[in-house]
Amino acid sequence: MRILVTGGAGFIGSHLIDRLMEEGHEVLCLDNFYTGHKRNILKWLDHPYFELVRHDITEPIRLEVEQVYHLACPASPVHYQSNPVKTIKTNVIGTLYMLGLAKRVNARFLLASTSEVYGDPDVHPQTEEYRGNVNCIGPRACYDEGKRVAETLAFEYYREHKLDIRVARIFNTYGPRMQENDGRVVSNFIVQALKGEPLTVYGDGSQTRSFCYVSDLVDGLIRLMNGPYVGPVNLGNPGEYTILELAQMIQNRINPDSELVYKPLPEDDPKQRQPDITRAKNWLGWEPKVPLAEGLQLTIEDFQQRLGK
Ligand code: NAD
Ligand code: UDP
Repeated sequence: MRILVTGGAGFIGSHLIDRLMEEGHEVLCLDNFYTGHKRNILKWLDHPYFELVRHDITEPIRLEVEQVYHLACPASPVHYQSNPVKTIKTNVIGTLYMLGLAKRVNARFLLASTSEVYGDPDVHPQTEEYRGNVNCIGPRACYDEGKRVAETLAFEYYREHKLDIRVARIFNTYGPRMQENDGRVVSNFIVQALKGEPLTVYGDGSQTRSFCYVSDLVDGLIRLMNGPYVGPVNLGNPGEYTILELAQMIQNRINPDSELVYKPLPEDDPKQRQPDITRAKNWLGWEPKVPLAEGLQLTIEDFQQRLGK
């Protein structure tokens, strides 16, 4: 199959491309390299079934493919907030163009949405029926509302144009290839511990997240794309940890003497997050397999190699 992966040079996109290439597909990777990097897809650059398209999805483009995995969008708060208007354009204009591309060639289209559509949730764990609690004028809104509009666009293309869509709501995902300066919590803590710097806990560290290892997530995306269920489907690992627990796990693994330093909690930071994955289990036969301890070890080893520590 000819498959387009937008955001393919990024963290999740490049792992997805590895799997698709290994399965023998022809893959087009489209990226503007805002938070992605060529080194993530280096091993495929000379492969005859692989094509790299440097392009910004806020501009239209025509490509002939059978499936589109639409992942292009910065995912870390640090990056999506550094140019919020661009984040909105990427989610709204960019998703519109990618849906148009899929419609023109009648390709199946999978949107990488996010648990952020639930905002700071007052339902726990979050099911797909929950409509969310997003502050539409807060600093996270460019991403949260952007993704909410992206979901709306996908569903209108489905209803109005009969486009074959799939919508995944991805919860916090981690693993090898996260950028050193990504700014998300797992990579921050690992890089800080390896460099002998204090681990920066925001707030009192009592807020929770549920961390999914990237190979599990990619497996869920591929099952969703190739199964019959449109979605939205939560994809995440239900194992829930406080940020303080995460800091201590990483501290113990890398350097028990490393310090913790407390910084102010960012505005609108969700207090708790845990996916209800009943739908993914029932419709995709999917659930995560890699426990946090194991996934952290693999991620730490990758950073050790890259940082030479
Ligand atoms: P990432 O930042 O590593 O990857 C995003 C990729 O999109 C990068 O390669 C970047 O260069 C590219 N990109 C950004 N804007 C673009 C534009 N305008 N045109 C073309 N390319 C553009 O992030 P990731 O963690 O791999 O996330 C991938 C997708 O999954 C995103 O859509 C994100 O919202 C979603 N997601 C991720 C998580 C997570 O925990 N990693 C959670 C929920 C949702
Ligand atoms: N966080 C933290 N220290 C860091 C980075 C993040 O304590 O160096 C916290 C952040 O405030 C949030 C949680 O970790 O409560 C997850 O943050 P991340 O940016 O990884 O993802 P998101 O908030 O988008 O879920």
